[in-house]
Amino acid sequence: MPGHFPAPLPFNATIGIVGGGQLGRMSAMSAARLGYRTHVMANSANDPAVQVSHGVTIGSFDDPDVLREFASHADVITFEFENVSADGLDLLASLKPVHPSGNILRISQDRIAEKSFLTSIDVPVAPWRAVNVREDLDQLERELGFPLILKTTRLGYDGKGQQRITSADQLEAAFETLKPHPLVAEGMISFDREISVMVVRGLNGTTRCFDPAENRHKNGILDLSLAPAAIDPTLMAEAQKLAMRIAEALDLIGIAGVEMFVDRNGKLLVNEIAPRPHNSGHWTMDACPIDQFEAHIRAVTGNPLPPLIRHSDAAMKNLIGPDDMALWPEIMATPGLIPHHYGKEKALPGRKMGHVNVLFPVGGRPGEFGLQDALGVLADHSTEVE
Ligand code: AMP
Repeated sequence: MPGHFPAPLPFNATIGIVGGGQLGRMSAMSAARLGYRTHVMANSANDPAVQVSHGVTIGSFDDPDVLREFASHADVITFEFENVSADGLDLLASLKPVHPSGNILRISQDRIAEKSFLTSIDVPVAPWRAVNVREDLDQLERELGFPLILKTTRLGYDGKGQQRITSADQLEAAFETLKPHPLVAEGMISFDREISVMVVRGLNGTTRCFDPAENRHKNGILDLSLAPAAIDPTLMAEAQKLAMRIAEALDLIGIAGVEMFVDRNGKLLVNEIAPRPHNSGHWTMDACPIDQFEAHIRAVTGNPLPPLIRHSDAAMKNLIGPDDMALWPEIMATPGLIPHHYGKEKALPGRKMGHVNVLFPVGGRPGEFGLQDALGVLADHSTEVE
């Protein structure tokens, strides 16, 4: 373990961020506001995080020379991109303090490791089975029933690498097409809503979380987050307790998003842990004095983590691809829409290009009709009115 830095990390010290995307960009902007520099490891000099950072190392995330060069610029290393190889993580950890630890990334990179970990600490998850070989398929209909969801264990995101299965034939076909193996099969949860809790834990073990948000997806991609989630206060506290228990059991340093289902019986089931800032936490940027990015930077630099207060209710709407970006001029002209642009050059279909936050007084977020009205040009006219 390389030497610890004095906490808090001194001003003008450099935070190394693995990954050049929007999460790195918004982390770097928070770091700058707190007096820190950032050095990003990215694929391209045009990546969103590079545009707002002090330095950059460009190259493959698994090339030891690139990793060494990157680490030489950093006083502490963190991630906005999780898929660095185990060897790469070990190399970084041999050079500089790395938060969150490689061990946490290894768990979150692999759905089987993640579900095994959650089960081992008595956190409820959807019923699941590992699918290593074709023979494993035979038990699934009996044990989980149809419909079920078959997922790749690694590298899945935004609904990619998974398929809903309603018959044995479909199961066979999906086993062939979903790669790489092994896969994981999950019983289909008929949920009331999906929520997520952003939890952050500091170097000294202080653990805090934001209020749970409700998340709605479109085409497998997060579309809308509503904060706070419209669930009763007991369930809200339970969700926060689960997230804090996970953070403590992982010995997390930094922030993580914990995605959960609220099933039809009002029971919480954890779906996924992302040990980094998370799209479903972007509402905090405008609704909280300390947002998820600042909370993360405070944690990995050993700064204090005061309670994470929310001064407003909020809705966050993602801007996806060219269609949403075509609305940018109108978004900019609309009072009440708070725009965040990620600086990506090309608006490809399905690509997250930015987001918009809308604030409401605490306790004053309107129902569906008022919400769509507040979103103005971004209103979703296919949504049913309550
Ligand atoms: P994931 O990649 O695991 O985050 O899944 C993406 C989305 O698929 C989730 O946000 C859910 O909407 C849906 N989903 C995933 N797993 C399940 C499940 N076991 N039951 C029902 N819906 C699921």
